Amino acid sequence: MGLFTKDIKSMEDLFLHTLQDIYYAEQQIVKSLPSMIEKASNRELAKGLRDHLRETKHQVARLEKVFENLGQRPKGTECPAIDGLIKEANAVAGEVDDKKVLDAAVIGSAQAIEHYEIARYGTLIAWAGELGHDNVTGLLKANLREEKAADRKLNILAEGKVNRSATGRRAAATRGGAAKRSGTGTRSPARKTGAKRSTSSRSSGKRTTAAKRSTAAKRTTGAKRPASRGRSAR
Ligand code: ZN
Ligand code: FE
Ligand code: FE
Ligand code: FE
Repeated sequence: MGLFTKDIKSMEDLFLHTLQDIYYAEQQIVKSLPSMIEKASNRELAKGLRDHLRETKHQVARLEKVFENLGQRPKGTECPAIDGLIKEANAVAGEVDDKKVLDAAVIGSAQAIEHYEIARYGTLIAWAGELGHDNVTGLLKANLREEKAADRKLNILAEGKVNRSATGRRAAATRGGAAKRSGTGTRSPARKTGAKRSTSSRSSGKRTTAAKRSTAAKRTTGAKRPASRGRSAR
């Protein structure tokens, strides 16, 4: 995009520009995921990222179909945002020594990328609707659904174990026993059924309960900071 030429003259131009932006971004993500996978030592995390790499390749193909349906040639335009997010992910990872902390860092970076994609697809879907490009919304929505699912899985992994393990509280959490374990247990079935739409509202309700329960468990077993003193310190 030329800063001085103002080559985006209409909403149609803006839509196409943003489509080229996410097309470029998806390709950069395909290139960057392998190094994130290498950095992950948690097996579920590595698998999740590998799955999403496969999905991302399909997303690129879907975007090519979007261009085709619009009568356009697939073309990317530089996206400084994704370049920055990837650069930051690599920079942060390069600073982390501990493997478990690195897992948490990788998830944090991956979620930043997912959120960028979610924002872009949400915008594109709204604009496509406004412009009457009904022949592309289904494809864009398919990509959005995968980004949201990827983000959700990363959340479950982070909150379910990776963050705690990175904090060094893993032993205490495991000993925390029944309450803790059933707390995580309620999450995984929702994930396994894979019924995204129907379970999402239910599972988010459960997640709140589970989160509360795990916080309670942490408070009783953690013994890191006495409740009273922690309160006054805040
Ligand atoms: Zn531009
Ligand atoms: Fe993507
Ligand atoms: Fe961008
Ligand atoms: Fe993604």
